[in-house]
Amino acid sequence: MDDQAALTSPITSLEAAIERCQSLGMRLSRQRRYILELLWQHQEHLSAREIYNRLNQQGREIGHTSVYQNLDALSEQGIIECVERADGRLYGHLSDSHSHVNCLDTNEIIDIQVTLPTDLIEQIEARTGVTITDYRIDFFGTTAAVQ
Ligand SMILES: [Zn+2]
Repeated sequence: MDDQAALTSPITSLEAAIERCQSLGMRLSRQRRYILELLWQHQEHLSAREIYNRLNQQGREIGHTSVYQNLDALSEQGIIECVERADGRLYGHLSDSHSHVNCLDTNEIIDIQVTLPTDLIEQIEARTGVTITDYRIDFFGTTAAVQ
């Protein structure tokens, strides 16, 4: 893998996330590693406060400021995901393009890889005159409907 590919290929594991930090020249402090480990372990979308609480419950001492600074740095570098919601930001372990199923009952966001049929993409391109290079879909639903 050449350097460029190494910096743009999807991150598929905690080890790959750590390697990406290193190849970007980011310092890998203990706190930064804790955050990455937590996100890969839970694979949920968590707020900075939840991340802070869970790490401290695990006995991994980390300050509020450190949590916020590390989350900013990791999301800016594309190592983790940052989801903007009306009630604040959430962070997830997946950094490459993926879609979300938003459960309106539980407020949970479930990551899902969705590949649209080529003819649908072509229709969208024809209608808009824009060549589609990437997409992320937000699905919304309730748990009650699925039995
Ligand atoms: Zn996600």
